[in-house]
Amino acid sequence: RIVYVNGRYVPYAEASVHIDDRGFQFADGVYEVCEVRDGRIIDEPRHFARLKRSLDELKMAAPMNEACLSVVLTEVLHRNRVRSGLVYLQVTRGVARREFFFPADDVPPTLVVTARSVDPLKGESVAAEGIRVVTVPENRWERVDIKTTGLLPNVLAKMQAKAAGAREAWFVDRDGFITEGGSSNAWIISEEDVLITRPAESGILRGVTRTTLIDLARKEGLKVEERAFTVTEAKVAKEAFITSATTIVTPVIELDSAAIGGGKPGPLVKRLRSGFHAIAAWRSI
Ligand code: PLP
Repeated sequence: RIVYVNGRYVPYAEASVHIDDRGFQFADGVYEVCEVRDGRIIDEPRHFARLKRSLDELKMAAPMNEACLSVVLTEVLHRNRVRSGLVYLQVTRGVARREFFFPADDVPPTLVVTARSVDPLKGESVAAEGIRVVTVPENRWERVDIKTTGLLPNVLAKMQAKAAGAREAWFVDRDGFITEGGSSNAWIISEEDVLITRPAESGILRGVTRTTLIDLARKEGLKVEERAFTVTEAKVAKEAFITSATTIVTPVIELDSAAIGGGKPGPLVKRLRSGFHAIAAWRSI
């Protein structure tokens, strides 16, 4: 297995970053995870746009331009013979003696890129069954719109889900509204087949899969409402699902032990999942 670290392609076992890397010291870093399908990166431009936004919000320098970054991602995929799976990239503010203030401008950012194959059938079997979700109090910082590596609250939420036999946790704000999942966006479908998901401007990460699915749904003539929804509303929803680059569109069949859609994946989520790759492949050309 080969990974990219700061200008070099190295064997996984030999790859390392410095102990004074600000990613390690302060979680002063941002990342992207892209789905790879038939050897192509799905929605690369949207991932690059979000990466740029994350970097800009944190006043962090880009490690290289987008054309070069695209070459590195593709090279890592090729060297690992990944046709179907994930490519991960992380940028940190670089290596400097531990000090809260940003280092001098001449400190280069750290760039790490890894890739791995994932059997697409695995996701299909999870989606065929649907997943359980538990709710947890929203306890993250206010800048969840930035895709930072500071993911400890997400890790703890997902551990809580796992302990309860669930696959994802949905954060709930103080007013009882669901924000998003530990590593996914949250959606429900109303009795009238309206897709409902929280606005990207309010307390969530703007998921690339979320954006692409909104496009797809509207093209198919479905109504999408970007508004906050409560736990109570979700429990009586016709269908529910999550989106992310790793899960695509995966049905939720249970929320805090309340069955959704009779505890089985519903027809609309199935249709959206199967429609996703057609549009995503087209978009990535
Ligand atoms: N929300 C959070 C907190 C995430 O970590 C992720 C993905 O990891 C998402 C949403 C979904 O984003 P995307 O569709 O770009 O993978």
